[in-house]
Amino acid sequence: MSNEEKKKTEFSGHSTKSVHGGAPREKGFHSITTPIVQSSTYTFENTAKLVEFLDKKVYGGELDREEYARYGNPSVWAVEKRIAELEGAEDSVVYPSGMSAVTSLFLTVLKPDTHIVMTDDCYRRTRQFCLTTLKKFGIETSIVPMGDYDALEAAIIPKKTRFIFTETPTNPYLRVADLERIAELGKKNRAMTLIDTTFATPVNLRPIEYGIDFVMHSATKYFGGHNDVMAGVISGSKPRIKALKDARGMFGNIIDPHQAFLLERGIKTLGIRVKHQNDSALKVAQYLENHPKIERVFYPGLQSHPDYDIAKKQMSGFGGVISFEVAGGLESTGAFIDRLQIPYIAPSLGGVEGLIEQPAYVSYYDLTPEERKEAGINENLVRYALGIEDAEDIIADLEQSLSLVEMPSTTIEELTT
Ligand SMILES: *Cc1c(COP(=O)(O)O)cnc(C)c1O
Repeated sequence: MSNEEKKKTEFSGHSTKSVHGGAPREKGFHSITTPIVQSSTYTFENTAKLVEFLDKKVYGGELDREEYARYGNPSVWAVEKRIAELEGAEDSVVYPSGMSAVTSLFLTVLKPDTHIVMTDDCYRRTRQFCLTTLKKFGIETSIVPMGDYDALEAAIIPKKTRFIFTETPTNPYLRVADLERIAELGKKNRAMTLIDTTFATPVNLRPIEYGIDFVMHSATKYFGGHNDVMAGVISGSKPRIKALKDARGMFGNIIDPHQAFLLERGIKTLGIRVKHQNDSALKVAQYLENHPKIERVFYPGLQSHPDYDIAKKQMSGFGGVISFEVAGGLESTGAFIDRLQIPYIAPSLGGVEGLIEQPAYVSYYDLTPEERKEAGINENLVRYALGIEDAEDIIADLEQSLSLVEMPSTTIEELTT
């Protein structure tokens, strides 16, 4: 059987899709991996071939090449096809970072005198971009509390709201959005819907299946998976993604061949990594929930989580990030983190190494304690993004550090009220 005849498309499993999704059997030079084509331009055999290419490019047709590297490279195309298959989307477009993806989307699609509705625990830089740069171009943003669908609907301005945007699960409380309701609100009001599912990955959640228009990821996190590459991606319908690819050719934010190669290599293990992280995170979350020195645990796979029901309905796994509050305050929580031997203290998530942070420091350092309180960030809050280490070791490590946490002594007032 020839490679052409083996061109099967739809695999059902996410590990199979992670390895083979969208990939041709024959990749050039009989290489099993997509060759890195380190070239800034591409050549044409003769003028007739150039004209044939330009005809397709200008008047429409399936292109299997480009003429210049700002429009793409084979590693980028391979990643885009792979991610589209994982998402169940018609097409995907890859960028050099998650922020590059979301800012390009808004700048490409929005016009002045339009409006965005966004939920309050969206990624801070995305919110900042909307409230500063987009505002400068006459695009307004309303921010509504996550989980309040009445407020979300009330914030929509007829004929003006072009985007409804939320993340799921969110940072740091892992709130889960009801995608059916959001898709319905979008359709009813002729607004496009955009979901950032960086924390879920398509292994656990595929928003396109719920009628969402655009899905974005910081591919720096689980897709890359090794804390060694930055990238972003947006998936959606063919014509919309084509518009974004055309804009990328103007903006010039193409990811270089070597970065794209690393991203493709990372994605090959996405399925097995995420399933492993789902399993260990659930075990660790259950351990933490039963620990007397842990005050609260936020994990959508626990029944105590406010969005447990919707998470269970929508997601096939609950992800690798857990947030929790340790008995004590800012400093004792820092000391608890410092005693841990597995996770590194760092922002980010989704790589093979576990990463831990205290949101009061990492994302909200510029706020006063009062402002942090208002933003709902307690000083003893910890966000642990598990790597692929074994759950038993992660739990033993947490145990040795928690054993040294001193319980705050109960005051007379607390005992008598
Ligand atoms: C990290 C992150 C981003 C930004 O992505 P970069 O790749 O760092 O530019 C956006 N959204 C979420 C949810 C993230 O975690």
